[in-house]
Amino acid sequence: MQKALDVLYPPQCITCNATVETMNSGLCAQCWAETPFISGLICDCCGVPLPGEEPDNELGEGRLKCDECLNVQRSWQRGRAVALYGGNIRNMVLSLKHGDKADLGKPAGQWMADAAKDLITGKTLVAPVPLHWSRLLKRRYNQSALMASALSKTAEVALCQDLLIRRHRTPSMDGKTTVERAKIMSGNVFVHPRRKIRCAGRPVLLVDDVMTSGATLQACAEACKISGASRVDVVVLARVAKDA
Ligand SMILES: [Zn+2]
Ligand SMILES: [Zn+2]
Repeated sequence: MQKALDVLYPPQCITCNATVETMNSGLCAQCWAETPFISGLICDCCGVPLPGEEPDNELGEGRLKCDECLNVQRSWQRGRAVALYGGNIRNMVLSLKHGDKADLGKPAGQWMADAAKDLITGKTLVAPVPLHWSRLLKRRYNQSALMASALSKTAEVALCQDLLIRRHRTPSMDGKTTVERAKIMSGNVFVHPRRKIRCAGRPVLLVDDVMTSGATLQACAEACKISGASRVDVVVLARVAKDA
């Protein structure tokens, strides 16, 4: 039966639309090779790859931090990223954000469910980083909300799409320093007054497309903690590495 379906609907690579016989994670061989998936030793707080081998024993595992996470106070506990920002992932992020390619949200969310599997429990509440309403009107969808939806379905955990609200529309963060980004985002996110009850006493997993300085996730995690979340973890599609 699957064979017959394949003839009718031959599998297509999710990013270049090439028709291929064998795919890896929905990608053709070439796109897969050009996608900087993260594996091996990682920072437990932001998911960035770390130099060195995977520790042999359980001790120390899940406790390692990169220099940036050691130097910056993070208001969330653990973090994971599917890939480094670059190559095919950069194309995916931009297509989701500006290219009206909403269909990429589903595979991205499925990858994120896998990357964050160690952080998810039966009680986890998944919530996307919000867009300001004026941006949402313009773009018509929040790319992080699409990923959060696919992630929660894949991991079979609860989802709250409107847990967080952005107070002000913020200027573009491009070219801003970590300190400037933190200043812009600080206090700019709050928990929807009618959704407070959903995150009180519960672990929250925040979902975003890209983590650069972490300022946006920081503001979101702070808001969740003020509203009584028992812990906050984060997962992103792409992590911008400092020297990348
Ligand atoms: Zn492809
Ligand atoms: Zn880190």
